[in-house]
Amino acid sequence: MIIMGIKKEELISYLSKYFDFTKEELDVVSKLNTSQIPDSKLVEYFYGPVDDLPPTEKKTIERQIRRILMKLEEFGLVKCVRSCENGLVVWKVVESPGVDLSIHVKRKIEDLKNKKQRYEHFTIFSCPSCGSEYHFSDAFSLGFTCPSCGITLEECKKKKIEEIEKKIEDLESLLNYLSKRVE
Ligand SMILES: [Zn+2]
Repeated sequence: MIIMGIKKEELISYLSKYFDFTKEELDVVSKLNTSQIPDSKLVEYFYGPVDDLPPTEKKTIERQIRRILMKLEEFGLVKCVRSCENGLVVWKVVESPGVDLSIHVKRKIEDLKNKKQRYEHFTIFSCPSCGSEYHFSDAFSLGFTCPSCGITLEECKKKKIEEIEKKIEDLESLLNYLSKRVE
């Protein structure tokens, strides 16, 4: 299945790695297919028959799914339209690439570049266990020990910069792919 010109599995991996999509949000993406989803049947579509579900609970789930679909719409992955056949409001997957996702990717690349600059300018220490980070002066006053884990903090500049550079490279190739497809 192709969404915005990208294989669904690849898209899911990008969304979880770079855009902090939650498990619930990714679950909705994984259940999308080419069929249109009537807005009145969201719970049934994503979770199967719901006859024994109390109406209030069903409403809550329905609102959750709709909120997720609206987020996906903001990324240009789905579209909410009125069906020409029966006038019903339906959600459908956007199969060919548009600009929306590129905007998010560009923004993320900018964030990462700023983050990289911070790591280049400061000496940062991090806890190998919980991942919390400290500037040199804070690490110094903590005796280079993580206050939550009691583990020795490690200087992490080089490792972090390398990690960020790899992410930027990955996202730039996605952006490159998307812009080629849009033209
Ligand atoms: Zn820690």
